[in-house]
Amino acid sequence: MFRRRLPLLLLVLAVLLAGGWWWWRERPDPSVMHVFPGVRGPAQASKIVEPPRTRIAQFDRGGPHRLAILVTDPQSGWLGLVRGFRAHGVPITVTQDPAKAMTHKVVLVYPIVSGRVLTAGQLRALAQHVRDGGTVLAFNLAGGGLGELFGVGPGTEASSRLRLRWSKTTGEPEADEIVVSSAGEAKVASVGYAPGTAQVAARFDDGSTAAACRQVGGQACVLGVDLGSLAQRSMNGRAEALARRYVNGYEPSLDSLFRWVRDLYVAGEPMPWLVSTAPAGKQVSILFTHDVDYGPSVRNALAYADALKARDIRGTFYVQTKYMKDYNDKVFFDEAAVADVKGLLARGQEVGSHTVAHSGAFEHTMSLGDGRERYPRYRPFVETVDTVRGASILGELRVSKFLLERLAGAQVVSFRPGRLAYPFTLPQALDASGYRYSSSITANTVLTHLPFQLTDGRADGALQPVFEFPVAIEDEAPPPLLQRLDSADALVARVARDRGVVTVLIHPNTIGDKLAFEAALADRWKGRAWMGATDRFGDWWSARDALELDVEPRGAGWTLTAAAPRAVSGVEILLPKASSKTVTLALPEGGRSTTAIP
Ligand SMILES: [Zn+2]
Repeated sequence: MFRRRLPLLLLVLAVLLAGGWWWWRERPDPSVMHVFPGVRGPAQASKIVEPPRTRIAQFDRGGPHRLAILVTDPQSGWLGLVRGFRAHGVPITVTQDPAKAMTHKVVLVYPIVSGRVLTAGQLRALAQHVRDGGTVLAFNLAGGGLGELFGVGPGTEASSRLRLRWSKTTGEPEADEIVVSSAGEAKVASVGYAPGTAQVAARFDDGSTAAACRQVGGQACVLGVDLGSLAQRSMNGRAEALARRYVNGYEPSLDSLFRWVRDLYVAGEPMPWLVSTAPAGKQVSILFTHDVDYGPSVRNALAYADALKARDIRGTFYVQTKYMKDYNDKVFFDEAAVADVKGLLARGQEVGSHTVAHSGAFEHTMSLGDGRERYPRYRPFVETVDTVRGASILGELRVSKFLLERLAGAQVVSFRPGRLAYPFTLPQALDASGYRYSSSITANTVLTHLPFQLTDGRADGALQPVFEFPVAIEDEAPPPLLQRLDSADALVARVARDRGVVTVLIHPNTIGDKLAFEAALADRWKGRAWMGATDRFGDWWSARDALELDVEPRGAGWTLTAAAPRAVSGVEILLPKASSKTVTLALPEGGRSTTAIP
């Protein structure tokens, strides 16, 4: 009997031993990890779904009073134009149909005008469109015999032109001369034109014409910067080599090119409209954000929250859920920290995630993970400045969000990586783990002071439903922050001239001067700036982005029609050629409206 049962008993013993060993190995070690009893999760896995390639047809809609983008090569950077114009609030229709494009007064032909991509009849029609009072803007006038119409000599393609200088100068060096390519790894193609009869609006550093228009009935214009590619490269965070500075400065290189085209649209369209980039009645938006990534910062954050609350402002607090003791620091996300995070929420503040491990490896060497990382099994252990064990990108996103939600009751939709380490997979990982807003790169390296939509893999093909709010001002560069109050104020004022967005990053590792800076900046902009947290502004910005607007002639006047897939309020529509210069929209989700334009 016993003999017959021996194998079974041995099996049971082996299973027990293996289980015991597994339990011993997997048990949380309180000397290196803070254990929240009974807390496990997130239960649901995060699944990365590769989005379908964004198609031109998705933007081939709307009435003829929008700016038309006629795409002559679908492999080009046209999606960069979409992202840029949407950020700038310029209404667009994107099409591959020349006849349809020419039902619009203002047509941007991108990226190339030549007999290879357009028939002789289509080229003649483009020329006729200009003579009939329309505006045609070309990037690469490579052929088709339209040089004389545009008033420029032959164009020369190169990527060696680094700067563009506007003819109309303002005395501001960053705005008068902008960067368009780099001598290093971020090369962007340009076309420099030989002089002709057109009025030159800008020249490249080699003296060739970069932007010019010829009046002939309407306007025929060239812009020799591949704006779509430059926008893609910048917004994908691949233009660092172009950037003139890292942070804390004014860098309008991308914005000034989009604004030049915007102004052509406004000039050439009988009833142009623009969607304001700032909430109604405000000149600029300031997002006060805080990186809580050091023990004392958790408690200090409450002082910042008090100062903001006293001013009726919500800030964003990106909290690192550091429950592991490692090379970086000891544990500081524990019960006391959870109580402080609840304190932030009680003061009406937004709580976002600042990872678990705050590892430099996040950007280059950390694996994406399988989306099943769960607390307490997930134990990222930082070993050196740029090495970490047991960490994954999805783990950093999922587990930090889970803990802040489960333990403190936060609703986490915004993320900032430690050290602004920015992996190429971040957009899709953010989407998969339930985030909607990212603040992961500096405004000066993306060459814009506006938020924008991210793409899969930070590449050219597919949009992700996540928006980036780049950092404009931070607290680590010398001199100390409070000494930079006037220069920060001047930067906000400069960005305010174009109703842009300023994200301020402060580490609440100390209270005194940094808090004084934040309070003073908020007081200086009281009433003039929209000031708040990333989640609310992100909701406003993404609802604004989703708006579909058109104008139509009706009787002697015009009407503005609006459809809002998401609820919007305080969205100002600018009507430069109407007697009422603005209409302010407020619509519920799915709402539609028709407004007579006085
Ligand atoms: Zn940090």
